[in-house]
Amino acid sequence: MSDTIACTIPMDNDDEGFFGRECPSEECLGYFKIELGTGLQGDDLPCHCPYCGHTADHDHFWTQDQLAYAESLATRKVQELVEGMLKNAFSTRRPRRNEFISLSWEVKPGRPIPLHQYQEKQLETMLVCDKCGLRYAVYGVFAFCPDCGSHNSLQILEANLDLAAKELELAASVQGPLSGQLVSDALENAVSAFDAFGRELFRVNADIATDPAKAAAISCQNLKGLTKRVAALFEFDLSASFNESEWRDLERAFQKRHLIAHKMGVVDEAYVTATSDPHARVGRKITIEASQVGAVLPLVRRLGESVLDSLRDLRLSAVQS
Ligand SMILES: [Zn+2]
Ligand SMILES: [Zn+2]
Repeated sequence: MSDTIACTIPMDNDDEGFFGRECPSEECLGYFKIELGTGLQGDDLPCHCPYCGHTADHDHFWTQDQLAYAESLATRKVQELVEGMLKNAFSTRRPRRNEFISLSWEVKPGRPIPLHQYQEKQLETMLVCDKCGLRYAVYGVFAFCPDCGSHNSLQILEANLDLAAKELELAASVQGPLSGQLVSDALENAVSAFDAFGRELFRVNADIATDPAKAAAISCQNLKGLTKRVAALFEFDLSASFNESEWRDLERAFQKRHLIAHKMGVVDEAYVTATSDPHARVGRKITIEASQVGAVLPLVRRLGESVLDSLRDLRLSAVQS
């Protein structure tokens, strides 16, 4: 008889069709869910942790609950097997007449070992990978796709820029202060979306920076400062793919967001020095035209794409060298 008993353990998806996964990396142990059958098709595809990018076979991504359930079910099957063997070996025997000593025994089945019951956790964001179509769910927003490994930072940035464009459309359909507020919000949201995008992208690429600790904590709300930090930490020029007027518009948009967020939109000396904006007067409210914001949204998108491309090139050359 073999000393190994193999058994199949069925495991269910949750109500929304997702299957739980847990990163095996000790520093991460991040929990996420995927919908089986979506995404890449094929056997033995690796799994990527959406949080830290750790890559291994799917067999390494069992959650603690799934392992506990599998263990309890396997133990119960062994219990049933052992009880069956005992029953066969010691089938009920009645004492016989004329026996000097009579023995009798009966094998009674014990109580079944309880199964470890669990429910998959509720997560914060459901995503569909724009590269491979995998449906997956994570805590937070930014993630590597568990199937194809691509990072969703640009996808999230684009979704937020589309939302800002919709705010501008809405601004055109209403009158008065609400219209101006929507235009300001559109600008603020676009820059904030780039800030979140950049922070995440520099964080996950911190290992190829000249100073990983600084790169992991980089802020992206001030374009002038960011350009200097990127040149020092990643040695590429953030403005390389823009002409002079495009870059000036981007810088002014970022500076205007600063005024909106921290100065109630009132121009200060720092803004005038940083932008040389001929329309700005210190102490007056900054003007934010819907057309200017509309023109800057595609520039922010291009900025995001160029950061992504530069970091990808940098990683490729780091791997090759
Ligand atoms: Zn991980
Ligand atoms: Zn994917």
